Amino acid sequence: MKEISDLHGVGKQLAKCLARLGITEVQDLLFHLPLRYQDRTHLQMIRDLKDGDEAVIEAVISAVIHPPRGRTKLLCELRDETGKLYLRFFHVLSFQTTILKVGTRLRCYGSVRLGQKGMEMFHPEFQVIAEGKSLPIEPHLTPIYPATEGLSQYRLRKLTTQALSWSTEKDALTDCLPAALMKNLALPNLHDALHFVHRPPRDTAISQLIENKTAAQKRLIFEELLAHRISLLQLKHSFQQQKSVSLEINQTMMQVFLQHLPFQLTTAQTRVLSEIHADLMKSQPMLRLIQGDVGSGKTIIAALAMLQAVANGHQAVIMAPTELLAEQHYKVMQRCFAPLAIQVALLSGQIKSRSAILKSIANAEAQIIIGTHALFQQKVDFAKLALIVIDEQHRFGVEQRASLREKAQKNYYPHQLMMTATPIPRTLAMSLYADLDCSTIDELPPGRTPVITSVMSSHKRDDIIARVREACQQGRQVYWVCPLIEESEAMACQAATTTSQSLTQLLTDIKIGLIHGRMRAQEKEIVMRAFQAGEIHLLVATTVIEVGVDVANASVMIIENAERLGLSQLHQLRGRVGRGSTVSYCILLYQYLSEIAKERLAVMRDTTDGFKIAQRDLELRGPGEVLGVRQTGELSFKVADLLRDRDILAEVNQAADIFMRDHAENIPALIARWIGRDGDYG
Ligand code: ADP
Ligand code: MG
Repeated sequence: MKEISDLHGVGKQLAKCLARLGITEVQDLLFHLPLRYQDRTHLQMIRDLKDGDEAVIEAVISAVIHPPRGRTKLLCELRDETGKLYLRFFHVLSFQTTILKVGTRLRCYGSVRLGQKGMEMFHPEFQVIAEGKSLPIEPHLTPIYPATEGLSQYRLRKLTTQALSWSTEKDALTDCLPAALMKNLALPNLHDALHFVHRPPRDTAISQLIENKTAAQKRLIFEELLAHRISLLQLKHSFQQQKSVSLEINQTMMQVFLQHLPFQLTTAQTRVLSEIHADLMKSQPMLRLIQGDVGSGKTIIAALAMLQAVANGHQAVIMAPTELLAEQHYKVMQRCFAPLAIQVALLSGQIKSRSAILKSIANAEAQIIIGTHALFQQKVDFAKLALIVIDEQHRFGVEQRASLREKAQKNYYPHQLMMTATPIPRTLAMSLYADLDCSTIDELPPGRTPVITSVMSSHKRDDIIARVREACQQGRQVYWVCPLIEESEAMACQAATTTSQSLTQLLTDIKIGLIHGRMRAQEKEIVMRAFQAGEIHLLVATTVIEVGVDVANASVMIIENAERLGLSQLHQLRGRVGRGSTVSYCILLYQYLSEIAKERLAVMRDTTDGFKIAQRDLELRGPGEVLGVRQTGELSFKVADLLRDRDILAEVNQAADIFMRDHAENIPALIARWIGRDGDYG
């Protein structure tokens, strides 16, 4: 491998800058792909320039004006045969002032604006043209690269030019993908693809490049998706080499548990449970993701999985993203496990009897442990941990999940069960979660009445308040949600507080409660308990209630600023109502509706199917925001985009299997190239 310092002009300082971008070998430069392109392939006459154009001109400096104050400012007047134009510099370097003299001929590239004096360019890139000489016109579109401080586009272009000429040498660059496959897909080889994206010929349509529609880009996208898929499959493979405790299914205990439930499992729940049981009996770790819409009954499945750990003399832990949810799980679990005399413990951030609980976890007295991120802390020692359940897994980062895993028994990996209510389309799930086995609870428990959703302007607040009064007088309970997500947590709490005050003044005959993330666990608990008991009719809340909260009598939800929330989040919130047998209502209030916001809220009005909502959310916002950390943090792509490129995912998955079978020797090179040499996923 040729090192970056082998290139001309790369000293210590520059090598450091490049390393910041992850570039240490010459090859890395080739996989440092342009963000966008500029067209500098033809000169324009000043007369033809329009406000907003990006243009290349050639002209002579006809005047240089230094404003009296602020000596670093500079204004140059330029003329070509057709007109004049001004260059404005706010910070000129001293070498520039010596160059920018009357009579100097310049080629400038920059964006044009109509200023006070006429057409202007701010801080253009420029080159001096020596007397009697001419500069060649660029034969290629100009790439713009991701850069960093101390590294200019000009430098990056010079360096990539060197790297490209190196790649032309025999055997310099290995093409990992088999030629036959590329031929089948009508895609170019690696060398040609890289040359094209770094230096697109001048007649290439920029729009095609921006949309990543050129064959060269498609080839790179394919290769990148393949690299990701293979790295995830390898991760899975290495995980399967680990040892776990095999957990036998205890039918007797399970019967007792089920007999005490007030309902029967749905067909979907039963199916998913049997998939989990099959995993738990193996002596290699389970790594399974349960997808299931809000209210599909994931908690009870988690409890049944945990039961098997306890039945075999081990401990199981469930981790929830909020205190409120952890407390609710605690109550559910206490109730479920009481008939079997199984000990359930809650360890959240704010619990008082911490040391006693820690002790019971360390001496195996506590069999089922429920907690929040507090579980990650060093001090928590598990005696015999065999199963980890992570609820709302998309809320946790990889490191958090990994640190919990380290708490397992020596030499044994815990089984892991992850749960998410963000359903995603199948092919996407296969790519994103290639390292996990997936189960889907695709059925809601019977007897649920769909929520009727309407979208209204916040101008109608008075009407809505009247409706809320009416609902409360009829014995219903209401959630009033104030999201304000852009501002801080503190601001959100403030907004909820103000709203609850104004509602208290307007609805004097109604009991109003307030809950937000800044309250202490105990305070929240008191409010939630009062709401559950029907002592509070109207609960004003921030999105803390988004996950988990379960009050069957609550049948109306008002969501303010609904246009600011993602569809999946709205869907989660709305899942808090419609849990009983009466008809429920959800009113989405907006302040301002853009076209796209209108479309999104219409989706909420028209369907309650979590899968459909997720699909639309994905189309309207892109997977990054929908899937949260996994897309943005754990999986970040250079050229690929799971949503845009979803049509080729199936092909990629198929190619990955063939590749791993027939070309395994190329895997390390492929992964080093696209994912990094230190294995980001490790
Ligand atoms: P989620 O999948 O959103 O986490 P939960 O596990 O909180 O959903 O379940 C929602 C509600 O449905 C709970 O009150 C739970 O007791 C109830 N539930 C779960 N399974 C069933 C079932 N098979 N029949 C009836 N109700 C059920
Ligand atoms: Mg849940």
